[in-house]
Amino acid sequence: MAVKKTDKHEEFDFFQAVEDNFEKAARHLSFPKGLLNQIKACNSVYQMRFPVKIGNEYQVIEAYRVQHSHHRMPTKGGIRYSLAVDQNEVMALAALMTYKCAIVDVPFGGAKGGIKISPRNTPEAVLENITRRYTSELIKKNFIGPGIDVPAPDYGTGEREMAWILDTYMTFKPGEIDGYGCITGKPVSQNGIRGRTEATGRGVVYALNEICSYADDMKKLGLTTGLKGKKIAVQGLGNVGFHAANIIQEYGAIVVAICEQEGSIHNPKGLDVQAVFNHRKATGSLKDFPGAKNLKTNLAGMEVDCDILIPAALENQITATNAPNIKAKIIAEAANGPTTPEAEKILIKKGVMIVPDIYINAGGVTVSYFEWLKNLSHVRFGRMNKRFEEKNQEALVNLIEEMTGKKLSDKEKGRVIHGGDEIDIVNSGLEQTMIEAYKEIRKFWKDTKKCESLREAAFAVAINKIGNSYYSMGVFP
Ligand code: GLU
Repeated sequence: MAVKKTDKHEEFDFFQAVEDNFEKAARHLSFPKGLLNQIKACNSVYQMRFPVKIGNEYQVIEAYRVQHSHHRMPTKGGIRYSLAVDQNEVMALAALMTYKCAIVDVPFGGAKGGIKISPRNTPEAVLENITRRYTSELIKKNFIGPGIDVPAPDYGTGEREMAWILDTYMTFKPGEIDGYGCITGKPVSQNGIRGRTEATGRGVVYALNEICSYADDMKKLGLTTGLKGKKIAVQGLGNVGFHAANIIQEYGAIVVAICEQEGSIHNPKGLDVQAVFNHRKATGSLKDFPGAKNLKTNLAGMEVDCDILIPAALENQITATNAPNIKAKIIAEAANGPTTPEAEKILIKKGVMIVPDIYINAGGVTVSYFEWLKNLSHVRFGRMNKRFEEKNQEALVNLIEEMTGKKLSDKEKGRVIHGGDEIDIVNSGLEQTMIEAYKEIRKFWKDTKKCESLREAAFAVAINKIGNSYYSMGVFP
């Protein structure tokens, strides 16, 4: 089933790599072979070709939607716009979504979409045209809908594309009461949810905060506990990389290197992430950021002296070529599939802890789940209970004041009396999800002899949940 990549990723078969990880993890479980094969397979692969007029010429666009697993419905996963898109990549990414959803307990099967275009070099009007046409193709084949398959942003897409998809869907399905749940990652004004844009990056930080809290694990890596003072290198200043780097600074971590397509920069004293972002926006490049050194290549920033490396761009970035030079003790796979299997072997030998993509970047789909729930319930989180909570807290404060004879200042009262707004509820739900999921993976990793890595443990936890779901469905008695 796996299709070898023939473009720039010569030797890297992404889907095969996911299958290999699955096999390694499945050894720790006792499911029958047939069930494991069912979990592993991609259920539906929809390959599209459609014409789009660009200027005076027609171009044939290559696009995909893959639904990897239907054990839970709807299926869920982003849509990627990139010139590296091909069937193998979309299948691999769809499979990762299945395991990711299981790990964070969101009730979806995995899916992924991709369109082979360069979002940077395609005019906005053409991008809109392609997005709307792609959506109509999905509708035609019943590959989209709040109970069928719910796309979201991924590499090269964002709120703007989600709004086009929503608008196209609603045009074809007028009056569908739950129609807004056909897509997540929408603008807030289009029934999106606060906190979704930064959710993947924020989830990475919540996860790292939890991971770094275990003294024995940190000691083994030669690190202290906590994020404070940790040196961070980040690859990719897109939506995920930017927010992860920006938010981790709030925990006292120091971002020392940032890499992008055009180059990488380094400052051991720390980079102000928002200022780097603004500089790149203004000049079109990371390079020549005041106080930072331009490194020789765009990947060199991944090899600087640091504690945590966050690859937040694309797959196949940490390879056998650069793995030996990586100095980080923890690699947090904010991107999907950034580490090749060969690189992983080298890094594990060096004692590096690789926190796998299927766990650490699951914050995005977690908040997508909250958005979908919001769309199906037709009410914003916090709307019904914020004031009720505040009245209860106020009554309690008044009672304590009466009993003690002491008065709190307005500022102190304000801190205690605060009913949750949508953003508070989303972020606390996300934090709780990332912490619980890590506890589960870590437990399996520690309890299971011969479990080589966190990736193996994460896959095993996911397969276990999916397998049990097939059993309870009665498919495999
Ligand atoms: N594209 C994101 C991912 O790879 C989010 C998917 C979603 O929210 O459905 O996890």
